[in-house]
Amino acid sequence: MPTIETDEHKALRTAVSALGKRHGRAYDREQLWSEAAKLGYLGVNLPEEYGGGGGGIAELSIVLEELGAAGAPLLMMIVSPAICGTVIARFGTESQKRDWLPALADGTRTMAFGITEPDAGSNSHRISTTARRDGADWLLTGRKVFVSGVDIADATLIVGRTEDSRTGRLKPCLFIVPRDAPGFGRRHIEMELNAQEKQFELTLDDVRLPAEALVGDEDAGLLQLFAGLNPERIMTAAFAIGMGRYALSQAIAYAKDRTVWNTPIGAHQAIAHPLAQAHIDLELARLMMQKAAHLYDEGDDVAAGEAANMAKYAAGEACVKAVDQAVHTLGGNGLTREFGIASLITAARVARIAPVSREMILNYVSHQTLGLPKSY
Ligand SMILES: Cc1cc2nc3c(=O)[nH]c(=O)nc-3n(C[C@H](O)[C@H](O)[C@H](O)COP(=O)(O)OP(=O)(O)OC[C@H]3O[C@@H](n4cnc5c(N)ncnc54)[C@H](O)[C@@H]3O)c2cc1C
Repeated sequence: MPTIETDEHKALRTAVSALGKRHGRAYDREQLWSEAAKLGYLGVNLPEEYGGGGGGIAELSIVLEELGAAGAPLLMMIVSPAICGTVIARFGTESQKRDWLPALADGTRTMAFGITEPDAGSNSHRISTTARRDGADWLLTGRKVFVSGVDIADATLIVGRTEDSRTGRLKPCLFIVPRDAPGFGRRHIEMELNAQEKQFELTLDDVRLPAEALVGDEDAGLLQLFAGLNPERIMTAAFAIGMGRYALSQAIAYAKDRTVWNTPIGAHQAIAHPLAQAHIDLELARLMMQKAAHLYDEGDDVAAGEAANMAKYAAGEACVKAVDQAVHTLGGNGLTREFGIASLITAARVARIAPVSREMILNYVSHQTLGLPKSY
């Protein structure tokens, strides 16, 4: 029987869990980021020759899940090493790899990722951020929304489109846009999220970029994009499973202790069974996440795509349910600042909406897996 997790994976879990617990819920994002980087956790998926650990998304998802389970998630891991690091490692030029990968791995530089647009939303085929050539340079114009961590990232990997000179059709392309590039504006969007990373609306107004800003082949299109989007979905699953486990652990501790009749409330099946169900759902979601990570790391992009979607779906749903039940288990304390569980209600919903919504995953499975017709 194949091993689900190797001894190295288990050791990684234990070590990261200890780091997460040392920092705990009151963690300082910057401090944890640099400590995790120094220990080799942030670049665990990046190639060894560029300062990474030589592992894959399986290892990186373990890191994010365990930090989240300790109450100290690092959201930018979904973006910087997972999407941007992967895309540069797979499709970047030698100079882009040398320039970025060691710095992403050692945490000295971070890269954000921007695809979502106000007028396209879930329909990313409709994005209109456009790159046009101007001599050897590119000029990038458009708008993005909800992009995380742009203020703390040295650059943002922006998904734009170029116009095919032969057919006139627009093709997706990826550009590294430095944070302070002239014409690159950002506005902080106030979110009802108790998170250390912020979201931004971005404006790109004829942002001039050198030819080297283009990552990968102008003609490779969706293939390159999905090389980054599948790790993003797997990592969002890890983020959700970590958060669900954190909420559940708080609820279990409370249910073992809180006594209002003759036994702790955890002895009542109305409290115990939903917690047991939440645990089962999180475990099932993790199995699908492990499958997706395994397929991705094996290089099977097509099978990984389906599994990554399913893992993100399962983890998002399991996380929302676990958090909901955790809040309920704590009674009135579930809504206090002191216990800090209520703020997870909105945070958990992120995993249901981003980076691809629950409905779009159900659409994907309906059409791609089940062969059902499309309504849109
Ligand atoms: C905290 C947070 C962080 C984020 N970080 C980033 C980031 O770093 N970079 C980035 O690029 N983006 C980021 N996003 C954006 C995120 O990926 C989008 O919010 C998400 O893709 C959904 O797009 P939308 O918000 O435009 O919703 P819409 O596309 O407007 O969808 C609204 C609702 O309609 C439903 N819907 C739409 N079309 C269909 C359909 N065909 N069938 C059934 N239902 C449908 C959706 O499921 C959803 O429930 C972030 C979002 C959040 C909340």
